[in-house]
Amino acid sequence: CGIVGSINHHNIVPDLLEGLNQIEYRGYDSAGIAVIGEHGLTTIKRPGKLKQLETYLSTTPLSGHAGIGHTRWATHGIPNEANAHPHSNDQVSVVHNGIIENYLQLRQWLTAEGFTFNSETDTEVIPHLITLFLARGLPPTQALHEALNHLDGAFALGVLFKNDKDHLYAARRGSPLVLGKGLQGLSLGSDTMALSSSVKEILYLEEGEQACLGRDVFTLFDPKGKPISREMQPFDQER
Ligand code: GLU
Repeated sequence: CGIVGSINHHNIVPDLLEGLNQIEYRGYDSAGIAVIGEHGLTTIKRPGKLKQLETYLSTTPLSGHAGIGHTRWATHGIPNEANAHPHSNDQVSVVHNGIIENYLQLRQWLTAEGFTFNSETDTEVIPHLITLFLARGLPPTQALHEALNHLDGAFALGVLFKNDKDHLYAARRGSPLVLGKGLQGLSLGSDTMALSSSVKEILYLEEGEQACLGRDVFTLFDPKGKPISREMQPFDQER
């Protein structure tokens, strides 16, 4: 139901939790975050209120410079920990808003390719599909692009790659997604409420576009995967 993401010069875990709290109003049944830090890619998710996630994180501190977060409104699979987002394997972590209509066919294909599934969601095919294209030798941007070509349905995505800790990836088709830039780094959200409060400029992804966010700069790609340039717009956040 809601997506947040951040890549920054400081620890992004508080930003992710702030963003998730800001988009609580959209409604949700579970929540989670994935972070790239010293210990690689870590995913923490909990059914129920954000408080459950926050309580866990207050006793088990987690930090990192790139991360994604999600509040889920279940469409495929009951609200529980396994079905909550982010959906991660040992290479890739994904948060998703929307519905993947051809997930059953993709699941069959990926199972035959040797991937195992831990949830009942339509979303879990996405990290595996991206990983399949990584294993075929594509770099992250192309692996994501190729995976998107196989998806039918609606999505806004935030994606982390374990072996690309200096970038955060985003893509959308059908569901909205906005990028924000502040003094300390870049962020990602399903709406402007989800963006870090220090954001001063924003850019809405257009239908079918993909983005790669670094700490200071981002690259945009059109639906065919060709790099394009578009300026961010000034943004005054009223909170
Ligand atoms: N279809 C996905 C699921 O059920 C995403 C739902 C959402 O947008 O929160 O897990």
